[in-house]
Amino acid sequence: MIMKQQHFSVTGLHAFRDNYIWAIHSPTSSQVALVDPGDAEVCLAYLKQHKLTLAAILITHHHLDHVGGIEPLLAFCQQQQLPCPVYGPAHSNIAHISVALTNAQQILLFEQIPFNIIEVPGHTLDHIVYVNDQALFCGDTLFSGGCGRLFEGSPSQMHQALNMIKALPGTTNIYCAHEYTASNLQFALTIEPENQALIQYNQQVHALREQGIATIPSTVDLERKINPFLRCNQRDVIQQVEQLCQIKLSAEHEVFAALRTLKDNF
Ligand SMILES: [Zn+2]
Repeated sequence: MIMKQQHFSVTGLHAFRDNYIWAIHSPTSSQVALVDPGDAEVCLAYLKQHKLTLAAILITHHHLDHVGGIEPLLAFCQQQQLPCPVYGPAHSNIAHISVALTNAQQILLFEQIPFNIIEVPGHTLDHIVYVNDQALFCGDTLFSGGCGRLFEGSPSQMHQALNMIKALPGTTNIYCAHEYTASNLQFALTIEPENQALIQYNQQVHALREQGIATIPSTVDLERKINPFLRCNQRDVIQQVEQLCQIKLSAEHEVFAALRTLKDNF
């Protein structure tokens, strides 16, 4: 018998300037898992305030703003003699990973919520994402209206990763690690000034940010409509990129690469 995946709630903890540390709540207990806890103090305050037990840490890639809190959080769990597995990429040198993950593996959070692991080299070479029917935890691979910078991987690797995300069910919630939406949309509007969905979303995002409200999670469906990096096959996007770069582009991954370079210089 296939059991339907239980719905779980997710809370965003604010860290540093614009990071989100995602807390995944067990549907049946006071356990939580933290995704990319770069700042331990923020996490410990949250756990204490809500009387939650840290049951797992999920890491997407090696950057310090994602892994910096692992050690103090593990020390905290050890004091209380609570086990806390640290999931993370196998092809990495992150300290304290206890469950090293590679492509197509599955983990079972709180012994009831499955997540599939997909390797998405691009932003970094070790980057992985955690995905199931309800949610995608994508670290710095995709942002709402944009995507991560290419620090280690190639444009075609990143393009492949984004195409994988684009092919997920439209209702999948996207939990990325930064609130970059407003500035990403400024750039997106230079690529598709007449995209009505983008214009509308931009207004919505402005209203939310004025009130200090998070624009994340996004959804796959929304990103397909407004994120230029998921729209490298659209005629309007190709034409605009060609015009701005003064080059003729043939393959979709070339459009992506040119678009990423435009964004880097925006
Ligand atoms: Zn990063």
